[in-house]
Amino acid sequence: MLTTELHRHLDASLRPDTLAELIRAQGVHPTLRTTEDIKEKFWITKPMGSLKEVLDCFVLFQKVLTTETILERVARETIEDVAREGIKTVELRYSPSFVSEYSQLDWRLALGAIERGISMGSKATGVQARLICIISRDYGSNTADKTVDFAVAHKESFVALDLAGNEVDYPNPIFAGALRRARDAGFSITVHSGEATGPETVWQAIDELGAQRIGHGIHSIKDPELVKRLVRDRIHLEVCPTSNVNTRSVASWGEHPLRRLFDAGVRVSINTDDPGIFGVGLDEEVARAKKAFGFSEPELATINSMAFEDLFKVREI
Ligand SMILES: [Zn+2]
Repeated sequence: MLTTELHRHLDASLRPDTLAELIRAQGVHPTLRTTEDIKEKFWITKPMGSLKEVLDCFVLFQKVLTTETILERVARETIEDVAREGIKTVELRYSPSFVSEYSQLDWRLALGAIERGISMGSKATGVQARLICIISRDYGSNTADKTVDFAVAHKESFVALDLAGNEVDYPNPIFAGALRRARDAGFSITVHSGEATGPETVWQAIDELGAQRIGHGIHSIKDPELVKRLVRDRIHLEVCPTSNVNTRSVASWGEHPLRRLFDAGVRVSINTDDPGIFGVGLDEEVARAKKAFGFSEPELATINSMAFEDLFKVREI
């Protein structure tokens, strides 16, 4: 069993019954009305057309995450869920710009609500949770700058900055300035990269954006020099196998490179990415990884240790 998770989007972790309830209350979708509707019509449980198609599903979360009360509840429920999956330490991430785009909720109030929910959940379960602040690629460089300013102004709330979203249309170099300022302010950096793109984007994330961890990064396997670099500099890949298969970042479980990356000595973890979209908790994710990659219990223990050791450190303020 894995007890540490590094890559889980809080704003895409809604329980199906909560999501259905919020949709009904707010009348934001004509056909998704029950828990079964969410499981059958919304969850992506098999490979989709593309990563872009999957990213489009996130709009529904924006439409229901509209108040402080709702954000507090979703954060609390997420902690309860991770506890049930056996997780003791989790880094949750969310994008302030994404969460507030539809509701226009003040970023500060949204963060406060999320922190209250996490705190309630942690008190009830004993789960240790930390927050990563996401810069959403799709809103461009001005919003990236605004997000860094927000994180710097709330340094005590976040352990790191992340860059996420559509990497093809909003490539890494656009965000070099914003992430340099984040690093200068003392933040650790993780970057979603090499998910639907090739190894060259992972090189950029490391060399131009200063990433210490990479979200996904699975296409690094195509470049032996890059694999060597990841091993040498202990750059961690936050791998999310179900997400990778269902967004068609890889063609199949059989072609997923997690086993080869692990065998090459790359530091890796297993993560759920978006439980509210893929309908999978970490316990199920591990069961699938065991089956697909033949990981033994000692190997899973090694993966768990790598996740724990590569948690972002809480900075001195
Ligand atoms: Zn992600």
